[in-house]
Amino acid sequence: MNPFTLHLCADLAEARAASGDGTVYKAAGIDLIDRLKERKEALPQLVDVSRLRKDLGGITVDSDALRLGALATLHEIAEHKDTGARALRALRDAASQAATPQVRRRATLGGNLLQRARCWYLRSAGVGCAHGGDGPTCMAREGENRYHAILGGFDCVRVHPSNLATALCALDATAEIFGGDATRRIPIRALWPEHGLASLPEHTLAPGELLVAVFVSRGVIEGNSAYREAREKASFDWPTCAAAVHVALEDGVISSARICLGAVAPVPWLADDAAKVLLGKTPSDELFQSAARTAFAGAQALTQNAYKIEQGQAVLVDALRAACAKE
Ligand SMILES: Cc1cc2nc3c(=O)[nH]c(=O)nc-3n(C[C@H](O)[C@H](O)[C@H](O)COP(=O)(O)OP(=O)(O)OC[C@H]3O[C@@H](n4cnc5c(N)ncnc54)[C@H](O)[C@@H]3O)c2cc1C
Repeated sequence: MNPFTLHLCADLAEARAASGDGTVYKAAGIDLIDRLKERKEALPQLVDVSRLRKDLGGITVDSDALRLGALATLHEIAEHKDTGARALRALRDAASQAATPQVRRRATLGGNLLQRARCWYLRSAGVGCAHGGDGPTCMAREGENRYHAILGGFDCVRVHPSNLATALCALDATAEIFGGDATRRIPIRALWPEHGLASLPEHTLAPGELLVAVFVSRGVIEGNSAYREAREKASFDWPTCAAAVHVALEDGVISSARICLGAVAPVPWLADDAAKVLLGKTPSDELFQSAARTAFAGAQALTQNAYKIEQGQAVLVDALRAACAKE
């Protein structure tokens, strides 16, 4: 590991005082410590926020929204009594299917949303690549690319690794961010760049900004949602394709729909054209398949990942069936 300084903080004021331009926050450290061990990134100053549970922890529901603190663990999210509601099942299932039971008990929401891509070229100290800033090009495009992007790849074909990002984008959540002396709220999709270009950082937080919490509004809590994924191993693995769906039904007809695809693009991929296919229609398998074809209409397979086009459509159809099923 390269040497680094670790600041342990007791409250937000200390975290703010300790943070500067080169600051990287540490929550449980599962992704961060891996990155330090990979010796590819220089992370000289870590500010440990894992003790700030009063400001950053907890899961609460009030009349306006569900609030998930950035330090809520994936286990807490999966097991919370309110995430069993039909509208929030995408969130519960995205959390409960990630990683392993041991990882889920430590891994935090904030760290899950802001973990770096798992591209082996990006993370290998022996290889330079355009997104890592130490190579001229994307090595995966012509190299080992079976887990890489089929949508929105441009000059870098990494995929976004976060299950929770996929679910929370489908739920149209809002992120609360603390920086300087103020907090601000943004649509959660704006936590990541619109396009995952090689030259852009993987998230849009300014240096020193801290993710405080994520909110899902009461309006959303009244619909239905589902999350489905495919992966190679039953546990200890990231998905190869994922889909989260939120729908509302009125008199048996789909009145609103939001779809987000995971593990197929460098950023959480909102499939708005596919969602439009559903509007005003009665749920059916033919309709779901038509929406799935639309979602992947622009997909471009690399040399080793053509399987993802069919798999991604199947995962989305399954998520749509689950979200629209009668209870
Ligand atoms: C074997 C294994 C399998 C996995 N499978 C999956 C999977 O299937 N799906 C999935 O989604 N994930 C998976 N993961 C990833 C895992 O969920 C993340 O590594 C974990 O959630 C990171 O959380 P953390 O608290 O350890 O974050 P850290 O490692 O502490 O932080 C990660 C990044 O987020 C930043 N950060 C953290 N909190 C904040 C904050 N509040 N404000 C600003 N920046 C912050 C840090 O600076 C750092 O860059 C897997 C991990 C392992 C080890």
